[in-house]
Amino acid sequence: MTVRLVIFGRQGAGKGTQAVNIVNTYGVAHISTGDMLRAAVKAETPMGLKAKAVMRAGNLVGDDIINGIVAERLQEDDATGPGFVLDGYPRTINQAEALLDFLGDNHLDAVIDLDVPLEEVTARMKSRGRADDTDDGIARRLDLYEQETRPVLDFFKEKGLLVTVDGLGTEEEVSSRLIAAINEHL
Ligand code: AMP
Repeated sequence: MTVRLVIFGRQGAGKGTQAVNIVNTYGVAHISTGDMLRAAVKAETPMGLKAKAVMRAGNLVGDDIINGIVAERLQEDDATGPGFVLDGYPRTINQAEALLDFLGDNHLDAVIDLDVPLEEVTARMKSRGRADDTDDGIARRLDLYEQETRPVLDFFKEKGLLVTVDGLGTEEEVSSRLIAAINEHL
């Protein structure tokens, strides 16, 4: 069985942690564009050097660059075999359309929205201390989420793929809720 998922949520909603729980449950590939970009910044690749300032400011890296890295990653064996959970992608309508285009007939099983209120994600981000978690960076990312990413949820909702999961509670509570919701859609 191939399982193809997208996990959504504001930054700080616990997407990354829950994506790992999904990986452990279904054996799928974890495709996190944020992790891929941070690795490129660390390795000082040409893409990493370009992305560094954009990420630090909390802005979005260009759609063409991101669509290119995701298209390549989706062709690797672990993603075409067991499947994948996309974490942090797509974040714009352009990216969502590009994704459906690369997948062709290999339809997504579900798009999960891990729902955590704004005040809670802001507090969580302030306490995790990542390089781009400055007050301005956090505010900018939350703003972009509403402007650019919220419409992507509506896009998937119209396609009947959206599954909203309450992201409040312990990691275990959220994980069991999430896995139960995914199983209903497979
Ligand atoms: P994340 O770890 O998903 O919060 O991503 C960290 C940063 O990487 C974001 O604030 C963006 O600057 C950049 N980034 C990650 N994924 C994307 C994407 N799909 N589109 C554009 N920029 C992205």
